[in-house]
Amino acid sequence: MKDITKHYSNGEVTVVWKPMLCQHSAKCFTGLPEVFDPRVRPWITPEGATTAEIILQVKKCPSGALSFFMNEDVNEHPKDIGGNEYDAYDA
Ligand code: SF4
Repeated sequence: MKDITKHYSNGEVTVVWKPMLCQHSAKCFTGLPEVFDPRVRPWITPEGATTAEIILQVKKCPSGALSFFMNEDVNEHPKDIGGNEYDAYDA
């Protein structure tokens, strides 16, 4: 599998997903099915919950496949967060 990084944003927070690291533990879509649904594309829809709920769920990912950053942090410090990765939005 290619080393792909996907981004999904609600305008406030961006969820970052690295499929290579995903262990398919199902924690994300059992914990917050309004946002994480592997049956549809895109499978992450951050509009389905509050930013706080999303952050809480992302932090429970056991593999590190999910992470997040706050969009305002990128706007203020673009060099500090992920290089050019956030150019490739997939939402
Ligand atoms: S919680 Fe993390 S490891 Fe588990 S299915 Fe979701 S992204 Fe994959």
